[in-house]
Amino acid sequence: MVGFIIFILGLSIGSFLNVVVYRLPGAKSLWSPGSTCTSCGKPIAFYDNIPVLSYLILRGKCRHCRAPISPRYPLVELVTALLFLIVYKHTGLSLYLLLYLTFLCFMISIALIDLETGLILDKQLLLLLLTGVVLNLYLSFIPWRAALIGMATGAGVMFFIALLGKVMLKKESLGLGDVKFAGVAGFFLGALPTLAASYIGFLLAFIIILAAKALHKTVPRHIPLGPFLAGGFFLFLLWGNEIGALYISLLQPR
Ligand SMILES: [Zn+2]
Repeated sequence: MVGFIIFILGLSIGSFLNVVVYRLPGAKSLWSPGSTCTSCGKPIAFYDNIPVLSYLILRGKCRHCRAPISPRYPLVELVTALLFLIVYKHTGLSLYLLLYLTFLCFMISIALIDLETGLILDKQLLLLLLTGVVLNLYLSFIPWRAALIGMATGAGVMFFIALLGKVMLKKESLGLGDVKFAGVAGFFLGALPTLAASYIGFLLAFIIILAAKALHKTVPRHIPLGPFLAGGFFLFLLWGNEIGALYISLLQPR
């Protein structure tokens, strides 16, 4: 039953994240006006705004102008809800659930906004950091010293890689947004997991680029790193200990 409630909560928050991703980069208000059709501008009634269900009932079209609604919206809602459920299965009902779900919401919105605009917004990173500080006052999920060292390490190493990329490739390969993102994630994760998560993020991005090359022969000019980093950070916040233990067990001689 709790799992079901968490899932429904995930659907609604996913719906809110869609609004965040759509409105935040343009500095529009998140709260008003209410949702409108992006095609005809007519307000969307609450009964047409039920996560996933409304999309299915309306068959992916606006009730008024029949313009197609992007399947991305129900997809984001569904994926958010599924991830909420996975996090709940991992932590159970505890204050840590709040920490992980909050972090997850930031990762999803940061990833989607980066995909859409190629930017990681300062206001999002600042809010994430502030949330981390407040939650740590109550939860002490990371020693303050480790959090600060994590921030310095994450931002420092990413800055170094950005510099290296600029010198070697003679073009901007990493944005300052990625540097700040790794710094803020470092507050939550600590130094070593941040490095490992960033590495996994780079590796994933590299694999995707290779796959895109093999399939299309051409690669999009700019592939945002944000979504890959976000995935890596989320993975390590939840399962960092398990991944670390697995890694060490693989290193042991048999
Ligand atoms: Zn419409």
